[in-house]
Amino acid sequence: RAKAAGKARTEIYQRDSHQRVRSQFHLETELRRAVERDDLELYYQPIVDLKTSQIHGFEALTRWHHKERGFVSPAEFIPLAEETGVIVALGRWATRTACAQIRTWMDAYGTEKVMPINVNVSGIQFARDDVAAMVEASLEEYQVPGEWLRIELTESAIMANPVRISESLSRLRRLGVKVALDDFGTGYSSLNYIHQFPIDVIKIDRSFINQLQFDNEPYKILSMIGLLAKSLGLEVVAEGLEDIDHIQMLADLDFNFAQGFYFSKPMPASDVGNLISGRLPWLK
Ligand code: C2E
Ligand code: MG
Ligand code: MG
Ligand code: MG
Repeated sequence: RAKAAGKARTEIYQRDSHQRVRSQFHLETELRRAVERDDLELYYQPIVDLKTSQIHGFEALTRWHHKERGFVSPAEFIPLAEETGVIVALGRWATRTACAQIRTWMDAYGTEKVMPINVNVSGIQFARDDVAAMVEASLEEYQVPGEWLRIELTESAIMANPVRISESLSRLRRLGVKVALDDFGTGYSSLNYIHQFPIDVIKIDRSFINQLQFDNEPYKILSMIGLLAKSLGLEVVAEGLEDIDHIQMLADLDFNFAQGFYFSKPMPASDVGNLISGRLPWLK
């Protein structure tokens, strides 16, 4: 009997895991289709200049509203896209969509009102795709100057593929596209390594910001990162700012830019349009 029960358990386990595999497979197929059919949407989160309280730019974040499953989190579909290679098509879609959006805002509100958009590009994409050529083609297609687009990539992406990425980043720089190092502080790279890559911005990971207290360990680390960034001429963005008390600390640390729910959650393009044009999004 014990043996039979064991067998039944194994079968249940196998059925569950098969179901899981099947459901992952469905999700993969659907994600692929969503990219092809433009069923994804970019949301935009403001990056704020702490000195002037003005918006400095936006980070584009992909949103997937699945017909049956509802909202699927990027924490779920981005790793899936990376495992299955769909990330290449997704990254191309995100870059083109951001360029199309910049073009729309330029035409509607004038160049002086346009702010740069940051697009996240996966390390997998850098390995499998010609990112610089892909970016150049998107800028071309929508006649957007390179300085309106920025690319975010993580430290781990760089460390996995330093030579190839270094070359891609140099080409991006020649297009006028700035590069931001995302989730800074969560990887294992040495600070000393950073200056060898053409990077313009570092984005301090949210885990530092939400632990921040005056003179605690994260504060001391950020203070050192701040000095280093200054001496290397890098722009610093604090990610995940939720708490008003952290603003003064960021100012003390000489961090000029921040992004987080305290200012705004990521929002649809129509809300950004209202913001740029001076109409209030909540009066829509
Ligand atoms: P990320 O690039 O570090 O983006 C910042 C994430 O932090 C976003 O999550 C944003 O909504 C969230 N966030 C911003 N401010 C706050 C805050 O104050 N508190 C909290 N708790 N969260 C905040 P999201 O949109 O869920 O994206 C998660 C990750 O998925 C991104 O992290 C990025 O790595 C990836 N991702 C999203 N869209 C894309 C994309 O189009 N391409 C690629 N390759 N990756 C993407
Ligand atoms: Mg990012
Ligand atoms: Mg980040
Ligand atoms: Mg992240």
